[in-house]
Amino acid sequence: MLSTSSALGAFRLPDDIQTLCDLARRIVRDELLPLEPQFLLHPGHAFGLKETINLQAVFGDAVLARLTKIARDTGLWYLMVPEKFGGSGLSMLAQVAILEQFYYTAVPFPFANVPNILYECQGEQIDRFLKPVVEGSKATCFAQTEANAGSDPGGMMQTSAVKDGRHWVLNGTKMWISMAAESDIIMVQAITDRDKRQKGGITMFLVERTNPGVRIEQPGLKTWLGPRAAQYIVHFDNCRVPEADVLGEVGKGFNLGQRWLTVHDRLLRGPYALGKMQRALDMSIEWAKNRITFGKPLAERQAIQWKLVDMYIDLEALRALTYQMAARADAGEDIRAEAGMVKLTAMDWGARTVDHAIQIHGAMGESLELPLTLFYRYLRHGQIGGGANEIQRMQIARKLLS
Ligand SMILES: Cc1cc2nc3c(=O)[nH]c(=O)nc-3n(C[C@H](O)[C@H](O)[C@H](O)COP(=O)(O)OP(=O)(O)OC[C@H]3O[C@@H](n4cnc5c(N)ncnc54)[C@H](O)[C@@H]3O)c2cc1C
Repeated sequence: MLSTSSALGAFRLPDDIQTLCDLARRIVRDELLPLEPQFLLHPGHAFGLKETINLQAVFGDAVLARLTKIARDTGLWYLMVPEKFGGSGLSMLAQVAILEQFYYTAVPFPFANVPNILYECQGEQIDRFLKPVVEGSKATCFAQTEANAGSDPGGMMQTSAVKDGRHWVLNGTKMWISMAAESDIIMVQAITDRDKRQKGGITMFLVERTNPGVRIEQPGLKTWLGPRAAQYIVHFDNCRVPEADVLGEVGKGFNLGQRWLTVHDRLLRGPYALGKMQRALDMSIEWAKNRITFGKPLAERQAIQWKLVDMYIDLEALRALTYQMAARADAGEDIRAEAGMVKLTAMDWGARTVDHAIQIHGAMGESLELPLTLFYRYLRHGQIGGGANEIQRMQIARKLLS
């Protein structure tokens, strides 16, 4: 694993980060990879589900408990949690380098999966919402998209919230909401001032899924991403939310959402793709050396060698970009546009790298017993989800031309 990265030479991760990466790599090799064949063929996993939920659905309580114990004993459970809330306070660079190791396999590793904007919780929100999510007893989802508001949520959102005494009353319908039915808390954006919209007129609410005003359509929306659906249509019908359950300030919810997407959804797509790309390359080298056609291994054919080289170039280029942007985020730079660059290259180069791997493997490349098609579908989805590639380019162009 990560064999090719040793050729980097000039750039070395600091020793403490490298030690954690080595630990992650051992866990992947000893614990997760042996589970992968069962995971890939099981009908219970879904794209967009929290790691613990997928693990429980496929392997049951015992395996989930064993992996959770490893995560907690090693401290990796708190990988992305700030020190203030019991975490290790690791840098972004450390987080991306460690996550890259875990994304080498399709089998998820259990982490405290906390959307970073939840750290905006104040007062009693901390005990009600934040701490249970950090500790893993509750899960959240993020509800921004609507049927007619995907790329342009600020301009097109219709879901609204109107003040009524000490409550807000939400009405509207969200679509494509990952994990809505499996969550305890829905972080939902609604318009609180139609004139201002994204410029001070959108507010983020923490809504309990069990609120009688929440209705989730079942079954979820079927896609090519997995055997089970985990994206849902969510209706808010006169849904009364206490005013104390506004996340952040009234009218500032759009910016909060953007902040979450910037780090959580964009920069972290770097390691998400890197792990898969490294695996695709390692598998392809192995396959090409052993698969004989016309009397020679595939590895001796230039057509195959050039694919391997292109995969390697994409991998190393993306790794350099991702690590550099993580280090710049650690230095306090505003990397909103650059995180978009990481996301779009990660998804584009990731998908084409895995596509090469599928081609090199021939029919076996299409087998569901290998992780390649699942990796491909996840990465291809990333060219649309969480801000499509065109929207990332739009935002980078805005920065370039400003
Ligand atoms: C599996 C899955 C999981 C998801 N999970 C969530 C979730 O948990 N929460 C949530 O809120 N949403 C979620 N989404 C929604 C997702 O974020 C949106 O689908 C995405 O933002 C794109 O919006 P859209 O589908 O409406 O595309 P549209 O906005 O209709 O765009 C269609 C195409 O046109 C392009 N385009 C749009 N505007 C322009 C322009 N100005 N210039 C050039 N090209 C343009 C887009 O890039 C895209 O390629 C999920 C979607 C999927 C498929």
